[in-house]
Amino acid sequence: MQINFSGLRALVTGAGKVEQWAVALGCRRCLYPLTGIGRDTVKALHDSGAKVVAVSRTKEDLVSLSKELPGLEPICLDLGDWEATEHALGNIGPIDLLVNNAAVLLPEPFLEVSKEAFDRTISVNLRSVIQVSQMVARGMIARGVPGSIVNISSISSRSAITSLTSYGSTKGAMDIVTKIMALELGPHKIRVNTVHPTVVLTNMGKKVSARPEFVKTMKARTPLGKFAGACDLH
Ligand code: NAP
Repeated sequence: MQINFSGLRALVTGAGKVEQWAVALGCRRCLYPLTGIGRDTVKALHDSGAKVVAVSRTKEDLVSLSKELPGLEPICLDLGDWEATEHALGNIGPIDLLVNNAAVLLPEPFLEVSKEAFDRTISVNLRSVIQVSQMVARGMIARGVPGSIVNISSISSRSAITSLTSYGSTKGAMDIVTKIMALELGPHKIRVNTVHPTVVLTNMGKKVSARPEFVKTMKARTPLGKFAGACDLH
């Protein structure tokens, strides 16, 4: 299928990560380098003709991405900081496509869930989605143009996974927030959807794959018996 986003401007959060895990595994058959979902999304949008604004936290990641993609608009920002986000994105200009992808995963057993990890997870994974979407949607409505917002959720919003109280609850909340956004923004011709990946071998995927029993269960539930981005051995 040919997708043409020429003339459109897209914003992707959590756009930076590039992970050298394949090298650490000593596996040259796995996708190399393993890139974050946001970084690959930026590339796909860029290749489809969109002008892309890439928001992420680590400057080096954005520098290397900008070298790969001429014309990219990088914005280095901690989305967990409401005021900094307002400052950086308040006057972002016209956006037609938004992908809310940035997230943190800070695993803790339920009895050890800390205020710090819970608050951080909520502010990055959920509150920033609402904040950035508000800014972008207000712009779409003011310009009277249609638009599309995609929120990257997770299967952990639907299935209980141990030690993911904070992360899973932000994704569960994101699912209902997405439905409310779709309901309220639909009349303005703004579509809002979620995507629910299973395990993808990224920086984040590496964290959840560190537990052998989790890997066994998840692979058993995956028809291809392997995680996204992996070779047949992994
Ligand atoms: P990733 O490789 O760790 O990438 C996450 C990106 O978000 C990074 O660029 C990271 O930048 C950025 N980010 C995190 N906190 C930020 C903050 N406060 N401000 C700005 N940027 C921030 O993760 P991924 O696996 O690609 O995950 C992408 C999305 O898919 C997430 O929403 C995740 O929940 C979802 N997902 C992933 C999996 C999986 O198995 N990988 C499964 C289901 C759902 P820094 O590294 O610089 O912090």
